[in-house]
Amino acid sequence: MVGLDEIPLSQFVPRCHFAVVLDTYLAGEARELTVKQQLEHQRVEWVSLCKMRKHEHGMLGWLPSDLLYWIFLKKSDSLAEWMKSIGHELAHTIEGPETFHPFELKLPDGCSTYATLEKLCEQFATRWLELPSVQASKWEVLSELAMNGKIRLAIPPLTT
Ligand SMILES: [Zn+2]
Repeated sequence: MVGLDEIPLSQFVPRCHFAVVLDTYLAGEARELTVKQQLEHQRVEWVSLCKMRKHEHGMLGWLPSDLLYWIFLKKSDSLAEWMKSIGHELAHTIEGPETFHPFELKLPDGCSTYATLEKLCEQFATRWLELPSVQASKWEVLSELAMNGKIRLAIPPLTT
């Protein structure tokens, strides 16, 4: 029997270009790079623990001018939940700031509702977490987070 996790995201949400982009990412960069390298590659400047409301686990902030992202994780969550939230927010960075904007919500093509987009990011996170590259390198990120409450990444300046 095929597990739900094995279904490509492009089958999970058909006719959604973003799902294809996420599938491509999972088959490419995600397998080659460590978690830290992936965050740097997606221009995540830091990941930080903070207090959040009951139903929240992660949040994404960004600076459009420098194309920088910040990932916030819920301090009281478990390490496994931190990793899931990193995967979820990473998916939003792959989506790009053009479409992801909470005040003026433009959904990626083929994602009919915000709930569909969120489900897609959750499904991405599940698949991402299972990759050997992520499993092998997650402790580097988690131990630093647990120790300092924050990790800072080395983002090269934008070249124009
Ligand atoms: Zn989300």
